[in-house]
Amino acid sequence: MRIERFEEGIVFWQSISRLTVLLLVPFYSFWPRYETKRAGCPIGLELIASELIAKGFNVIFIDACMAAYNQLTEQLDGTVRYGLTDKQLAKVLERFNPAIVGITSLFSNQAESVEAVAGIVHQAYPDAIIVEGGGHATGDLEGVLASPNVDMLVNREGLITFPELCASIEARHTTKYKTSVEGVSYKTEAGQSVHNPDRPFIKNLDVLAPRRLEIPLHTMYNVPEHTGGSRHVKYGRLAYVLTSMGCPLHCDFCFIPTLTGTIRYFSLARFEQDVVRLKEAGVTEIVVEDDMLFDNMPRALQIGEILHRHGMVWFEEGGLSMFKFMKPGYGLTYQDVLTSLATNGLYRFYLAIESANKDSLAKSHKPDINSEAGVAEEIVRYAAKKGIEAVGGFMLGFKGRNGGGLEFEETREDIERTVAYAKRLKEAGLAYVMLFLYTAIPGTRAYEYLSSVFPELDLRTSHERSAFPVGGLTPVELTELRLRWMQEVNGDSSTGLATLTKNWGL
Ligand code: SF4
Repeated sequence: MRIERFEEGIVFWQSISRLTVLLLVPFYSFWPRYETKRAGCPIGLELIASELIAKGFNVIFIDACMAAYNQLTEQLDGTVRYGLTDKQLAKVLERFNPAIVGITSLFSNQAESVEAVAGIVHQAYPDAIIVEGGGHATGDLEGVLASPNVDMLVNREGLITFPELCASIEARHTTKYKTSVEGVSYKTEAGQSVHNPDRPFIKNLDVLAPRRLEIPLHTMYNVPEHTGGSRHVKYGRLAYVLTSMGCPLHCDFCFIPTLTGTIRYFSLARFEQDVVRLKEAGVTEIVVEDDMLFDNMPRALQIGEILHRHGMVWFEEGGLSMFKFMKPGYGLTYQDVLTSLATNGLYRFYLAIESANKDSLAKSHKPDINSEAGVAEEIVRYAAKKGIEAVGGFMLGFKGRNGGGLEFEETREDIERTVAYAKRLKEAGLAYVMLFLYTAIPGTRAYEYLSSVFPELDLRTSHERSAFPVGGLTPVELTELRLRWMQEVNGDSSTGLATLTKNWGL
């Protein structure tokens, strides 16, 4: 195999007789006044690349965001793009001639960036089959397929589906207008959308091909920050890892259970092998991206032990749930859990607290003990005492029809109660607070309801910019208030850093 690195990506050439597949991460844009600007190594697409390489395909991997993360370009709609310009991306694409292009479409608020990328790809390769996959593509199948620049979609998990689609194209069983591959949606020549049956989720993640490290170790991912603020150590490389995928819960506002299903694991032995390889490659710091690391608490603590055994410090970004600290099970206490994590190199984690309002949590099918302030405060104090930075995540402005079919909506007082809860826990020791806005993500029950209430509104905003009125506040009022509350809760120094880096203020 010939491996060629270039500024914007990497190519794995295997055989002239095999299909050439381009995997593409789009450029992104953000509203600088309101939103953070965050991106890292896209681990899902990277794992798909590993599968394709193991199956002998020629694989081109381009990241149009991280290739120019610090290049900011103002857009006509008032957002600012971070990543390659249209011209720069077109120039990179000129060097290749893939038969199939897979574009990752993860976030609904970035749907227009992805569509712009698909347009550039379509112009560069009019005969290629253009496929999108990921969270947004799965949640908004019809909307994305309506694009003249998109031929097919990979629904839900793409790790097996996309390589199988490539194999089917190579074997000429799939054309631009027809495929029988499970988990794929496509358009017929007449423009009619067809959804093939869903593919079952992989049960045991150990069946996946060994992870190729060339992509995560590309120089464009060698940055002093990650998706949760500054790095902890100044030497060595950083890598993102997954030890499991999915979550067994079904919170109404969350798309994870639909996208990645109930929880599946890599074995600890396989995980440890990967950590050893990362260490040998010069990695010193790990970001754990699991959707629900705490699903199996003893296993979660063993993950920490493995990382520590190989000298890694780590940040848990996927989210550790407050309700799991409150009731860890297995005869453990939160003190046991935090002591073990601190001893084993965890230096920061995202603490999913969500709300002070028991009712909002319960009606969204989220464990409502998260709102029990007394015990939450003890947990936060203990984390701080152990020297771990806990970043509290809260959600403002719940509105749904999720509790037994009855509609509910937070009042301004409810929203302010959650802000006060955040302030209380910040004073108890949270290192930073992220106040998020309740968001309708296509494909969730929350979206189903909110899009029926507000059919005229574009709900595809981020958690930092409101899309719909709630609690007597207009979207603009709530978005501005959130900024003010973030400043009040976090203080000037953290807010100053967040403004400067456009990342978490840490
Ligand atoms: S919000 Fe958290 S607990 Fe709820 S379904 Fe999503 S990942 Fe699971």
